[in-house]
Amino acid sequence: MKILAIESSCDETAAAVVEDGRKVLSSVISSQISIHTKFGGVVPEIASRKHIENINPVIRQALSDANLTLDEVDAIAVTYGPGLVGALLVGVAEAKAIAYATNKPLIGVHHIEGHISANYIENQDLEPPFICLVVSGGHTHLVVVKDYGEYEILGKTRDDAAGEAFDKVARAVGLGYPGGPKVDAMAKEGNPHAIEFPRGAVSGSPYDFSFSGLKSAVLNYLNQCEMKGEEVNRADVCASFQASVVDSLVSRAFAALDDFGYKKLAIAGGVASNSAIRSAFISECEKKGVEFYYPSPILCTDNAAMIGSAAYYDYKNGITHGLDLNAVPNLKLGER
Ligand code: ATP
Ligand code: MG
Ligand code: FE
Repeated sequence: MKILAIESSCDETAAAVVEDGRKVLSSVISSQISIHTKFGGVVPEIASRKHIENINPVIRQALSDANLTLDEVDAIAVTYGPGLVGALLVGVAEAKAIAYATNKPLIGVHHIEGHISANYIENQDLEPPFICLVVSGGHTHLVVVKDYGEYEILGKTRDDAAGEAFDKVARAVGLGYPGGPKVDAMAKEGNPHAIEFPRGAVSGSPYDFSFSGLKSAVLNYLNQCEMKGEEVNRADVCASFQASVVDSLVSRAFAALDDFGYKKLAIAGGVASNSAIRSAFISECEKKGVEFYYPSPILCTDNAAMIGSAAYYDYKNGITHGLDLNAVPNLKLGER
């Protein structure tokens, strides 16, 4: 089964053709990063307008890269939430129009289900059940993937998402937007033990995360340096901040693996492309005999291939949508 998938929930306009949930025939991503950089973050109204300009060429390119015509795909999938409402609406309207014109099934996909499913693409042997740590720009979720399309959320962040923390710290140290990759690169030059930043915890909730205290600690540190007239070692700040994030993520994930007796762990979302996070999990999983799965960086950040993968398993579970499908900006994982 070949699915044409569309993703437009934030600032990437993306289309892909995916066969049977695991084989990517094409994947096209048009990023708007250069446009939003000058504003220091994603401007929703600009994102929507750019999606409208980009979506048809991106879909045409995805079909042509896959060497297929629209007639030769079997279903149309689209992210319908969560995300920016105006941005989501562009993809949803486009997918509905194509589904109507071609009389093919329409499958609305949860964006985070897409991030999780990115793991199926390069790991042909990965099957549920497993534990997945979702760390993206807007989400930090520790999830049991019980079966395809069946999720139990064990914990989530009480305040900032991991990606949000990376982006805010990047801005504070003057690295600009998007911050994650820049902090990652700069941290490689720094000492992760140079500054003792707090490890956020939520008392009584062993699987929940908190990053706002860490963010404040970084800001306080920078302010104190400024007041004392001391020069800031930005590489040390990045490395020490990142070390705190790594500790929080690793400790929660392994608490869940131990408590629930799972031996398989996956990570997903844009922050999952962070090099320190990946290497910490690789070595910890090796030590503890846990199988570890993670997508290539290009499949961690927003793309449509992951949506095509999730859509295939949704379709196999009997899920299709009517032409009344709407964008749901705050859609919860597991909700339809
Ligand atoms: P969500 O998926 O929660 O709706 P989103 O789609 O905006 O949010 P993603 O595309 O999954 O988020 O990921 C983008 C986030 O990942 C940004 O916050 C970015 O800074 C972060 N990120 C990307 N690469 C890295 C990296 N190497 N290290 C740390 N963070 C990173
Ligand atoms: Mg993005
Ligand atoms: Fe995302």
